[in-house]
Amino acid sequence: MPDGSSILITWPHRGGEVALRLKPHPRARRLAVRIDAAGEAVELTMPRRCSRAEALRFLEDNRLWVEKRLDALPPRIVFADGAEIPVMDVIHRIRHVGKIRGKGPAWIDAGEICVTGDPAFLARRARDFLRALAKEEFQRRAIAMAALVEREVSRVTVRDTTSRWGSCAHNGNLSFCWRLIFTPDGIIDSVVAHEVAHLVHMNHGVRFWQLVERLDPDAKAHKLWLNRNRARLLRIG
Ligand SMILES: [Zn+2]
Repeated sequence: MPDGSSILITWPHRGGEVALRLKPHPRARRLAVRIDAAGEAVELTMPRRCSRAEALRFLEDNRLWVEKRLDALPPRIVFADGAEIPVMDVIHRIRHVGKIRGKGPAWIDAGEICVTGDPAFLARRARDFLRALAKEEFQRRAIAMAALVEREVSRVTVRDTTSRWGSCAHNGNLSFCWRLIFTPDGIIDSVVAHEVAHLVHMNHGVRFWQLVERLDPDAKAHKLWLNRNRARLLRIG
């Protein structure tokens, strides 16, 4: 684990600059560079006794690789009036509207995500709404799928995770990345199936994978889809 003393600076990139996070890591053997797709930052892992100058030199030596990766990042989609957001893989346009009696701060109507209130808070309201929608959707599916394997789901929560799409705790609580709400039906079910299978087998043993196969025969293809679309999903909202 990084020791928490990471330093954020900037790095010149194509006439502008990009965030650069220097992460001292006591157990790292060598310098390593990666792109943080969600934060649009370059991350440099530094072993003990590596100077900043040495780290920056390493980054310059790898400039071509880093620039290629930065350029390949999918466009960021900000929650704003008119933005096109995939909700369960169907494009929905965000529309700022006036308050309607009997409706909450946001709702979906005819392919539009309608958001009310002060425009300054539109992004936050859209996000809150989509997170709530995600929770409702994943919970419904998890309960139904758990019934198939004669288990019960204790609690479903959604989080803004960047490295795991789902998790299952020993007490039967399931947690999912809310961004799965942007993916197709089959992908959501696939992540739900994996976590529900953990309600039966709390490991990644043979019998666990046999159960996953039964609940989600296309698990491998679904996993591949998620890997390929990860950066795009992290850059929505
Ligand atoms: Zn697992």
